[in-house]
Amino acid sequence: MTANVNGMRRGRVALVGAGPGDPDLLTVKAVRALSEADVVLHDDLVPPSILALARNGARIVAVGKRGGCQSTPQAFIEHLLVREARAGHFVVRLKGGDPFVFGRGGEELAALRAAGIEVEIVPGITSGLAAPAVVGIPVTHRAWAHGVALVTGHAADDAAEPDWTALVASRLTLVIYMGARRVAQLRDSLIAAGMARATPVAVIANATRADQATQVTTLAALVECAIASPAIIVVGDVAALAANAQPVALKAAGADVQI
Ligand code: SAH
Repeated sequence: MTANVNGMRRGRVALVGAGPGDPDLLTVKAVRALSEADVVLHDDLVPPSILALARNGARIVAVGKRGGCQSTPQAFIEHLLVREARAGHFVVRLKGGDPFVFGRGGEELAALRAAGIEVEIVPGITSGLAAPAVVGIPVTHRAWAHGVALVTGHAADDAAEPDWTALVASRLTLVIYMGARRVAQLRDSLIAAGMARATPVAVIANATRADQATQVTTLAALVECAIASPAIIVVGDVAALAANAQPVALKAAGADVQI
């Protein structure tokens, strides 16, 4: 806690990435911030084993919002961050993965800056890179993929869909977040955009957690029912490199497809 000229405690906020779930994948800086926090505001994706690293006596507040479930409005979260910091607290805003990758960290940073609050950003390992990595998928590869695109599979209601045609033409590995509930639409959009039906796809659910599960299939065989959430969907030749994938029988258009 920093004291200002009047001897008052000056609050501040750290926007902290909690990584994909395994506490061992936290940064040293994230662990330090947790150990110093007065208040921790966290998303649903942050597991109890990480929250357990918060300072004894820290106030832990869940401000989750998962699609379809009861959720905390973004404006309320921003209001809470500003209020707690103004009260002189060190507030850790703890988000799954990296705070600036589909984490609305940009909006929270803007709100805090507008309120004149001191903010530090602590990057985290984003699930879209951790999930493929832990199952042995290199998202870039000299032979097969010259780059990678991180894409949302569930655009905000008022936002346009990603430009699937441009993404398919780019031949980049596609790492799709928030797509588990929309795989049928994603499959159809990618095929309509010209992607080969035989393109390898890996789905990694609960990456780096005890219940991690991987499936490798093809674009044409990708179906909804087999996918747990949260999941990362990796589309591209490199997806075939996933190790220890559980072979699954998937139903595609009425036919059983054995992968
Ligand atoms: N800021 C986060 C992403 C938040 S959006 C990050 O950088 O990782 C939420 C989406 O992240 C989920 O729908 C899912 O696609 C993905 N995700 C988060 N944690 C995950 C995990 N442990 N395994 C698989 N996907 C995960």
